[in-house]
Amino acid sequence: MDTAYIGLGSNLAQPQKQLRNALVAMGEIPQSQLLRCSGFYRSAPLGPSAQPDYINAVTELHTELCPLSLLEQLQAIEAAHGRERSVRWGARTLDLDILLFGPKQIDSLRLQVPHPRMFERNFVLVPLAELTPNLRLPSGETLAQLLQNCPHNRLEKI
Ligand code: ATP
Ligand code: MG
Ligand code: MG
Repeated sequence: MDTAYIGLGSNLAQPQKQLRNALVAMGEIPQSQLLRCSGFYRSAPLGPSAQPDYINAVTELHTELCPLSLLEQLQAIEAAHGRERSVRWGARTLDLDILLFGPKQIDSLRLQVPHPRMFERNFVLVPLAELTPNLRLPSGETLAQLLQNCPHNRLEKI
């Protein structure tokens, strides 16, 4: 059994509803247990800037799945929620990223864990710290250290 942390994001088609529906769907992932969800946050868009604000959250999941199977489950949920991959970092109904998967470090084409861009994203680190403030990453760094070095982009708890 591994503890995985998943980053959720949406900025289209009623984002808060998208996240709530995603929580229901994540609760039904086989061989897994959705344990907790952070509060919801509103964040400034990253990438192409002419897009609505995002709603973000982080969940904690216990799973017996392997990392790639979990990714497949998450991508199926994204697809079921109308996710279309067109513009990189463009607006989307639902994004589910594996942030951490236990102590694993993965660097394959389809999956990189820890998520390589989580360190520069306060909309990931702040909700993650809400769930697990004393977390240490596989690299040995603490979440507190990462938060200190992370840009302070606009972020508001809702
Ligand atoms: P970013 O990864 O910068 O947050 P994004 O979430 O918008 O961007 P996606 O279009 O959702 O990017 O995913 C592109 C690809 O990233 C996916 O097809 C997936 O194979 C790959 N990927 C690599 N590592 C991860 C991870 N840790 N979690 C989710 N997808 C990942
Ligand atoms: Mg993402
Ligand atoms: Mg993604």
